[in-house]
Formats: sequence, C-alpha cells, structure tokens
Amino acid sequence: MPEFDLLVIGGGPGGYVAAIRAAQRGLRVCVVEKERPGGVCLNWGCIPTKAMLRSAEVFQTVTTAAEFGIHAENVRYDFAAVRARKDAIVKELTDGVASLLRANGVTVIEGHARFTGPTTVEVLEVGASPVFDGGPRYAAAPGTRVREVSARDVIVATGSVPADLPIPGADLPGVVTSDGAFGLTEVPQKLVVIGGSAVGAEWASLFAAFGSQVTVVEMRDRLVPAEDEEIGRALGRSFTERGITVLTGATVTAIADGSPLRVSVSGPQAGDLAADVVLVGVGRKPNTGQLGLDIAGIATDTRGFIEVDDRLRTGVEHVSAIGDVTGRALLAHVASHQGLTAADVIAGHDARIDYSVIPAATFTHPEMASVGLTEAAALAAGHQVTVAKFPFAALGRARTFGETEGFVKIVAGRTHGEVLGVHIIGPSASDLIAEGALAISLEATLDELADTIHAHPTLGEIGMETAMAGLGLPVHIAPRKR
Ligand code: FAD
Repeated sequence: MPEFDLLVIGGGPGGYVAAIRAAQRGLRVCVVEKERPGGVCLNWGCIPTKAMLRSAEVFQTVTTAAEFGIHAENVRYDFAAVRARKDAIVKELTDGVASLLRANGVTVIEGHARFTGPTTVEVLEVGASPVFDGGPRYAAAPGTRVREVSARDVIVATGSVPADLPIPGADLPGVVTSDGAFGLTEVPQKLVVIGGSAVGAEWASLFAAFGSQVTVVEMRDRLVPAEDEEIGRALGRSFTERGITVLTGATVTAIADGSPLRVSVSGPQAGDLAADVVLVGVGRKPNTGQLGLDIAGIATDTRGFIEVDDRLRTGVEHVSAIGDVTGRALLAHVASHQGLTAADVIAGHDARIDYSVIPAATFTHPEMASVGLTEAAALAAGHQVTVAKFPFAALGRARTFGETEGFVKIVAGRTHGEVLGVHIIGPSASDLIAEGALAISLEATLDELADTIHAHPTLGEIGMETAMAGLGLPVHIAPRKR
C-alpha cells in the first residue's frame, strides 16, 4: 500500500491549497517542496512585489502631501528598510502557510522531487534555503537522494520560472530577471525593462516611483497587450506623464557590457539605451527541470506545459497537474482554484474547473484590473456590444482621495445588456473588479448593476455609474450627444 493517498509536488498557491483541501477531505497528504512554502506567489511574485509597491506608493503620497495641506520636509526613502519590510511580510506569510499545512495534518518533506514512476518520486537534497540576494534561487542543484515517497495519486504543482531571453548579453551582470530584481540593493539610476506586460509594468512603476529613469521596451503596439486596448493605451499615456519612456513596437536585440550597459533596440525608435540595470520581464516557462516527467509518461505541449482536462487529469492514471505548470492562466488564484478542484476530484467528488470568469489585476500606478471579454474579443466572438465608460474624475470619492486618473469600461451585450467584460484603470481597480466578476458570474445586466444601490461616497459607485452611462442615463457625466 502506498505511503500516502496524495503526494503534491510543489507548495505554491496551487500545491498548498490542494494539499489542505485534500487533507480536509480525509486523505493522507504529503507535500514535497524544495524552497520555502508559498511558491513564487509568496516568495518571488504577488506578495513581495506588492509589499514594495506599497512602499513606493507611500513615498509618492508623502512627497505630494502638500496637495492635501500636509507639509513633509526632506522626504527620503531607505531602500534597505523597504526590502526588509518586504522580507518580513514574506516570512510571516510563508510561516503561516507552513503552520496551516501542519494544522491540517499534511506531511511536508523538504527537497526536490523527481519521478521514479507515475506515482512514486525520489526526494533529493537541495542544499540551503534560498536567500534574497539576487543570486540563484536554489543554493545547489538537486543532490543526493534523501528518501522515496509513494502515493495513490500525485498532483504536479511545480509552477513556472522566468523565461530566457535569447539575445547576446542576456547573461551579463546587471541583467536580471524578476527573481533577480529582488536582489537589487539600490534603486538603479537608469533602468531598462524588457517586456511591458504585468510583471514588467509593475517593476517599471515601482522603480519610477523611487526615482529611477525607466524605459520600458515592448514588442507589441501597446503596454499590457493582453488587456483591453483602451486600457493598455491609457497606461502608456499615464506612464509617459510620470516620466517613464515607453517604446512600443520595439525589440531589444542585444545588450553590450560596460558601465552603463548598452541596450540595442530595433523598431521605429531604434537606437542604443544606457542602463545600470536591465530587467527582463518577458514571460515564464514551466518549472519541470529534473522532474522526470518522461519517466512518469506525462505529456506536455510544444512549450513544455503539462496538458490537463477540466478535472486537471494529465492522461496518466492517478496523475494530475495544476497551476502555472499547466500554462492555463499564470495567476495565483487560478492555481488555487485548480488545486481545490483537483483535490476534490481525487477525493471522489464530481468537480470540474470553470475558467469563464477569471479576474486579473496589475498593481501599477494607476492600477488595472479586468474580467471577461475585451471589446475586441467580444466582437471577434460575434457579440453585438454596447460599450459603457465612466471616468474616476466624475466620482466624489476619487476626488477626496486625490486619485482621479482612469476609468471603468463595461462591455455588454447590445440587446439584453448582459455584462461580458469589465476593464478598469484607476484607484483600487484590483478591489473594484470583484463586482465585475460577480456580475459576469451571475449573468447580471447593465440594468441590474444600475439598479443596485451603492454606498456613497465610494469608489464602488463607479460600477453603477458606468452601467447607467451604458443605458444612456448617466447622472454624473454629460450624456452622449445623439
Ligand atoms: P509556484 O508558485 O511557482 O510554486 C511551485 C512550487 O513548486 C515552488 O515553490 C517550487 O519551489 C516548487 N517546486 C518546483 N519543482 C519542484 C520539485 N521538483 N520538487 C519540489 N518542489 C518543487 N499572480 C497573481 O495572481 N497576482 C499577482 O499579483 C501576481 N504577481 C506576480 C508577480 C511576479 C513578479 C511574478 C513572477 C508572478 C506573479 N503572479 C501573480 C503569478 C503567481 O505568482 C503564479 O501564478 C503562482 O505562484 C503559481 O502558483 P503555482 O502553485 O502554480 O506555482
């Protein structure tokens, strides 16, 4: 009989959530994790970036406090303290995950898991815990075998790592990935960010707030190209107003050594950029190195991501996969939901994952968030649409906050007004998007949003106001000319 009912490889937001759910369903569960629990999200992604972005926001607020009638002299930041605060938050949260796993009776084994068969792994030593010094994430390559683990079912939840940039100079000192950026002990004077999607845009926003001269180089025609076009263009304008140089339709072709580094850019604004640090934020690849997927017979797509069905099964009996390693939507909350579903399926419940409503947020200044279809995607899918927009500047609460930049855009069906997509750029976008997710999930219409009484004065009123504008009945902005 196998030692465990379920073995989870990887303790990120996919793996640890799956382990807890499975244990609560009565299974004997083991997690093998080679770093600290919490995965990329808690150690290298969602949480540490947001902790540092919050410091940047506080710094900006204090430097502009005079607008609020508050005078603060000689405002300065202490980057070492910013990093220390981030490390403390990460530690609190990762310790919290470890104690939740313990409280649920999950066995945690430290080490690198490698398949020896579909439902057996060997656990290899990985050396010291990672340190936040910008060096390699693992102190050592997988070493000697510590033990074997067998289970009735296995969930692969090994996540993703930064993709390589195949250009000359990508391995020079001073060229860092998102992981490596946490090792920067000083704010770079000149920073070039390669890639203007969520990860690159957040780092650009963070360092610009601390005074770096930032250039973002994005291959597509706008920042955050996965977002609705108007949102991406609005972010580009906002970044430019904040002093960030945005080069779109541009490609970095090489990085040359020197102090500063020389970054060659091709495209309409071709030329050389000087940089103290080059931050590569160009995507992720599956974290399946030395995992032995072939030994277990687990198939991957052309990019190496593990293919799964809507019950998260890989096609190899008793082996499931969840989270970034499935390449579905590289977001922590998607990994967690896949984890809950996979655990339920393994525990014998009739569960399936539904990807139709996935909110996503980017924590730049201004923030962005979206759920559902962009206008272009709705049209491409054959919908006849109504597009409603409402600016934060027309909202009393946004004025009291001194945060009037941005707007909400709702894409709705033209005949029935059903909400198909909600796109926000502006203050608290990441929180406001929850109403949009619920609206799509409950198949709500513009009428229903407009008829729901929202508390005043709140930023949340913007959902109702946008819906009223979409119905042609706006109260706080001028009606569209007929
Ligand atoms: P991971 O979090 O990658 O966890 C996988 C775990 O498996 C790791 O701990 C790893 O050490 C372990 N592991 C791998 N191989 C082995 C092995 N062979 N043996 C043992 N252990 C192994 N998402 C959001 O939703 N919101 C955000 O704001 C956000 N911000 C981000 C910011 C940045 C800079 C980055 C890089 C990502 C961000 N993400 C965000 C994405 C989010 O971090 C990931 O989607 C999420 O962490 C994926 O979870 P996971 O469980 O699939 O994998």
